[in-house]
Order: sequence, then structure tokens, then C-alpha cells
Amino acid sequence: MKGKDRNPGFATLCIHGKKHLNKHESGRPIRAVSTPIFQSSTFAFENVAHGAAVFRGEDPSYVYTRLGNPTQTALETELAYLEKGEAALAVASGMAAATTAVLTCCRSGDHIVAGDTLYGGTHQLFTQTLPRMGITVTEVPVQEPANVAAAITKKTRLVYLETPANPTLVLSDIPAIAEIAHRKGIPVLVDNTFCTPYLQNPLELGADIVLHSATKYIGGHGDTVAGILVGKADWIMTARMEILRDVGGCISPFNAWLLLRGLKTLPVRMDRHMENAMEIAHFLSYHPKVTRVIYPGLKTHPQHELAKRQQRGFGGMISFTVQGGREAGSTVMDNVQLCTLAVSLGDVDTLIEHPASMTHSTYSEEELVRVGIDPGLVRLSVGLENVEDIIADLRQALALI
Ligand code: PLP
Repeated sequence: MKGKDRNPGFATLCIHGKKHLNKHESGRPIRAVSTPIFQSSTFAFENVAHGAAVFRGEDPSYVYTRLGNPTQTALETELAYLEKGEAALAVASGMAAATTAVLTCCRSGDHIVAGDTLYGGTHQLFTQTLPRMGITVTEVPVQEPANVAAAITKKTRLVYLETPANPTLVLSDIPAIAEIAHRKGIPVLVDNTFCTPYLQNPLELGADIVLHSATKYIGGHGDTVAGILVGKADWIMTARMEILRDVGGCISPFNAWLLLRGLKTLPVRMDRHMENAMEIAHFLSYHPKVTRVIYPGLKTHPQHELAKRQQRGFGGMISFTVQGGREAGSTVMDNVQLCTLAVSLGDVDTLIEHPASMTHSTYSEEELVRVGIDPGLVRLSVGLENVEDIIADLRQALALI
């Protein structure tokens, strides 16, 4: 088969993507191997009539970077392609993506059904900020799809899932929940941050909208905050031209470029994150001071079979508890030397943190217990260092308990 007739693999798509921005207006070809950064806030019109036509939506020229920018378009085209969606919208952060998605689907009086374990910021948005706007959210244990069915009301306009969830690594059965929601005409959003399109394509599994905190694995280097939405072209158009336009959380061209650069190595990085994570999960499982290890790749994970069915790999996130609970967990986190005590995840560096007092401090003590975030839970975002070094670091910190 000739090269051009082949269906390129995921890594090839990440590197070559869809070529863009290759001709200067003089007609001279550019063919830049790295997508150029259009660090421009505004774009000139040829004349008043041209500007008016653009504003009427009759001419697709760029106007202003809050609404779109060629570097941003290159990123969006690539992400839509990798997530197998019609279109994408890149925004300033994962939380900007969540807010934009919710406001595109819901108005005052509407209702959302969500998983009960979510990133703490999303939980805060759902329990504090949205209710102030008249949008209510019911958070349910999504391990059991029937709980989603039971929580749906006549006002429900969105089902919001995070799978695997942060930090409990609970999975949602996307096809089963999508079927329940679609019977009532309700769209399903999946936060795919932990898996990335390399490991899971929620749209293929029945979801309608995909969200990423691109700050994490897509950027991959701990230097960019950004968010992505992928979905149907008309839904993305509404999100862009009604909500993003008015709420304003646009991505900077430079950050869009950093994500394009990150994407080129996404599959290579994910493979190494997963290889390291599996070894560390085994090391922790056999460690006498570790009481529980949560990793979807372990047979002890209650949804290991679902993870095998729904994902193409188990990811790079591990949560665990140690003998002595919260205090002993703090001893480990205070004494690691190679791992960095920091929030965020998906970086090349191994990051360790305490969800109950950091990323999930927006959950009350009772909520933490109810949703299964043990007060002593330690979350590890496994990086790309040599795995023996990460294990040696964890071993010496665990020895201090
Ligand atoms: N979704 C998940 C699963 C997250 O872990 C986070 C942040 O940690 C977010 C969304 C929010 O993303 P951002 O920090 O880019 O706003």
C-alpha cells in the first residue's frame, strides 16, 4: 500500500496532524514544520464591507483572538481529529472548558446529573457557583449506571462524567450511561483528562461532548494551563460564539502552540507513564505499610474489567493509603525527595499530593467519606523518570512511617 493510502496510526497523527497555515498571502509556500504562533490579538479587514461581512458570519476571516486564532484553529483541528469529533474549542483552562460546556447546555432552572467524584474545582463549580445561577446539580455514584437514571428529572439537560475520576479512579460505563441519557434526549459529557484520546475516545463510546484539562497530559510538561471541548460542529459553534464570546476564557496563541508541541509526544509519553505506573502499582501493592492501592490496571480494582473494555491502557495515575492514615500519608509526602509535592498531574515530573487537603479540599469531611476519598489517600501522578528512581524514593519515604 502506498504511504498516502494508509490510515496513519495515532503517533503519526499526533506528529503530522493536519497541516495548516502553509501559504503566505504572497503565494509563497511556507511549510513550517512547527505550526507558527500567531501572537496577534486582532486581524485586519480589507475594508468596512469586508469587516461587516465577517461580523454577519458571511466571511470566515479571523476577527479577534477571543473568538479564534490560526494557531488555536490548528490545535482544535488536531484535537477534533484525535477525539474523532466534528469540531473542538480550545479555551484558557479545564475549568473554563467546564463552565463553557455547562453554560452552552444549561440555563437558569436546569439540572445536571454528575458523577460524585470529580476534580475538586468541578465539584465547587457544581455545588457553589452554578446554584447561584439557578442551575442545580445532583452528584451520584456513577459506578452503578442505574443511579444516573434515578437522578434524571424533567429539568436535566446534561450528564457530566469524569472517567477515571480524580482521585478515586472510579470508572463510568460510558455506553451504558449514554444509553440511559439518550433515551431522555440528554447529552453526555465525559472529562477525558486522565485517559487522553490515546487511551479512550468517549465520542466513539456514545458520549456527545469530550472535555480535557489540557494542562495535564496533552501539554505534558507542567508549563501550560488550558482546556479543550470536542463535540458536534453546531454545538461547538454555539459554545464559541455565545458562551466563550461573552464569558471570555480564551486560550493564548502561545499556549495553543505549547499544546500542539505537547501533542507530538503524547503517545510516547503515555506509554512510559503507564509502564512506570504499572511497576509502581505492583511495588506499592506488595509494600507492608501500604494498605490499599487504587490503579485500574490492577486486578484488585473493582472495575478492572470495565477499564480493559473501555480504555486502551490504564493511565499514569495511582492513589494509595498507608498504615497510620492521614498522618502517616503526610509523612510520606513530606519526605519524598525525587517526587514533587504539588497539585496538577500528567507532567513529565512525578507529582504527589494529598487530595483531602489540596485538590479536593472543596469536599466537606462527610462528602469525602461518602464518595470514597479516604482522608489519608495519597495521589501519585507517575512521571517519566527512571522507574527505579521513583520506587527508591517512595521506598525511603515509606520507611519513615
Ligand atoms: N478535570 C480534571 C479531571 C482535573 O484534574 C482538573 C484539574 O486538576 C480539571 C478538570 C480542571 O482543569 P484546569 O486546572 O486546567 O482548569
